Amino acid sequence: MVRIAVDNKNDVAALAEIRARVPEANLVVDLQENYRLITQVAPFVNKVRYNPGHLHHHEKHKTIREKVAFIAETAAKHDLAVRVGVNCGSVDPEMEAKFQGADPPELDGVTAMIESALEHCRILDDLGFDRYVVSLKDSDPRKVIEANTRFAAARPEIPLHLGVTEAGMLPDGVIKTRIAFEQLLSRGIGDTIRVSLTLPFSEKWREVEAGKQIIADVEAGRFRSVPKFLDGGLNIISCPSCSRVENEAFVDLAFKVKEMTAYAKAYDITIAVMGCRVNGPGETDDADIGLWCAPTFVNLKRGTEEVGAFPYDTVLDRLKEELDRLIAAKQAGAAAT
Ligand code: SF4
Repeated sequence: MVRIAVDNKNDVAALAEIRARVPEANLVVDLQENYRLITQVAPFVNKVRYNPGHLHHHEKHKTIREKVAFIAETAAKHDLAVRVGVNCGSVDPEMEAKFQGADPPELDGVTAMIESALEHCRILDDLGFDRYVVSLKDSDPRKVIEANTRFAAARPEIPLHLGVTEAGMLPDGVIKTRIAFEQLLSRGIGDTIRVSLTLPFSEKWREVEAGKQIIADVEAGRFRSVPKFLDGGLNIISCPSCSRVENEAFVDLAFKVKEMTAYAKAYDITIAVMGCRVNGPGETDDADIGLWCAPTFVNLKRGTEEVGAFPYDTVLDRLKEELDRLIAAKQAGAAAT
């Protein structure tokens, strides 16, 4: 399966061209915030993904059920499959509010994610649409394991697509993914997989290679030990990049962030580096420090708070200042206890 990001008319035209050149390929489009896009892409794809957390953004006068019905009806008309893709960084705000505090801190948000997925399954079932799969993704493998295990127990008949989103760069990105997939695949949970790595565009094939290797290892009973970052230390998450990246300097920046911040590896700090304005602002909220890339500048955040927008060539210095401040605060906190 090949997933394609489509945002505008030019992208739709490109998608039609891709379909014409590879008629046998399984093409999937992510509807992101614009669920009505399905009418334009449906003739060219085999599957669409929608994120329940993104259905609230447009046409607020319509109910979620009405929007899901529109997706399901169009999918049925074009014989498409649908993926209900729940993502911990962009959970349906109502579910988030309803289940706030329901999980222990290390699994924060998992119950809201599961309940959101279950609600959409009920809507689709009720609409009589059964060609759907579900995914529950997070950048933390522990949450991916918990969410998928609990969902599979509740709805074992529904196919699950597995992924650790924004897993980051090599080798950590593969290690995080492997931790989750080993736990899940070995219990028979998971039907399709995606390995999301931040890589230069010319090396994206490594995602497929890593996925095949993990499957082969699990099948052969070859399991790796749990690496240290699960217990703490510096955690860098970065998106796998896609056609929404507005400046290819993003990939280079992600690598430089990893290199520059290596001195902080002993500290429990999460830094998120995201490639675009679609997912960047929301997906960096849970990190201690976030960077999301715009065409000519990089937005720097401290948790949910905006620090400012900086040119690509100076943002690393500004990041270092933020990181040093955070380390100093942690050291002061440790000294006081
Ligand atoms: S955050 Fe990265 S992978 Fe996600 S939509 Fe933006 S560029 Fe694509």
